[in-house]
Amino acid sequence: MPELPEVQTIIDDLNKKIKGETIVDFWSDWPKAIKGKSLENFKKEIKGRKILNARRIGKNIFIDLSGGKTLYVHLKMTGHLLIKFQIPNSKLKTKSESQISKSKEPDFFGERVNQYIHHIWYFKSKKTMEFSDLRKFAKIVLDDEEKINNLPEVKALGIDAMDPKFTFKVFNEILDKKSKTPIGLLLMDQGLIAGVGNIYRSEILYGAGILPQRKNSDLSPEERKKIYQNILKVLKKAIKYRGTSDSDYRDTSGAKGKFQEVMKVYNREGKKCEKCDTIVVRKKFGQRSVFFCPDCQK
Ligand SMILES: [Zn+2]
Repeated sequence: MPELPEVQTIIDDLNKKIKGETIVDFWSDWPKAIKGKSLENFKKEIKGRKILNARRIGKNIFIDLSGGKTLYVHLKMTGHLLIKFQIPNSKLKTKSESQISKSKEPDFFGERVNQYIHHIWYFKSKKTMEFSDLRKFAKIVLDDEEKINNLPEVKALGIDAMDPKFTFKVFNEILDKKSKTPIGLLLMDQGLIAGVGNIYRSEILYGAGILPQRKNSDLSPEERKKIYQNILKVLKKAIKYRGTSDSDYRDTSGAKGKFQEVMKVYNREGKKCEKCDTIVVRKKFGQRSVFFCPDCQK
């Protein structure tokens, strides 16, 4: 599932590529993803609206539109958004920017993972935003900004891991509130800290030298500080690498992120830890796999 760095990459792309665009039409062959209204009403209400800004909390995407409406998108397991250019006189076939400009840049839209298009937003400029979603678990909601903010799943979100208000003091308060919880589970709890998932919890705890099973009450102030610093460090580095594409995630040009090339423990079970040569271990933890070095992490 895309986590904070992948979603931040998409947000940055959207603000660069479609800010100021006007939506002229919408198409979907999977209206079940649209919550709270019919496809017909969704279409009617979104037409003519301008894209003002894209933002996120944790893994959740919010696209603010003119007239006080917000488009809320959760990518879930396999969803990703692609920005394309339409070919004149053809409604569904689209080409990438690189194909149109005939540049030497590779075109990624032909890759299988980018071809599960179930929703398309058409813009006045002939650009499109296309939603590829293999498993079809993604969720789309259009409503007044205030109503979106009050959706139970949005209200339930904890502080975003990259929010400037997420200070070491705030992190400590969260740890103290959940003193019996192992740190490896706490980091994934979107109701406490939003944005970190299965991939980044392993990388953060490796960076901090802490075992995922450790209970928060047993962590010293120095250890807590290391974890906090590594949350910021790992997420920032992953954003710089445009996220992790270990499976379906792609950016808005259909390209892979590159963080999987520099990962230390995630998906590296059976391989040597690069610090100490001990074999990296994989363990089921909170229904998902966690990866760690049994020697470097205490
Ligand atoms: Zn090690």
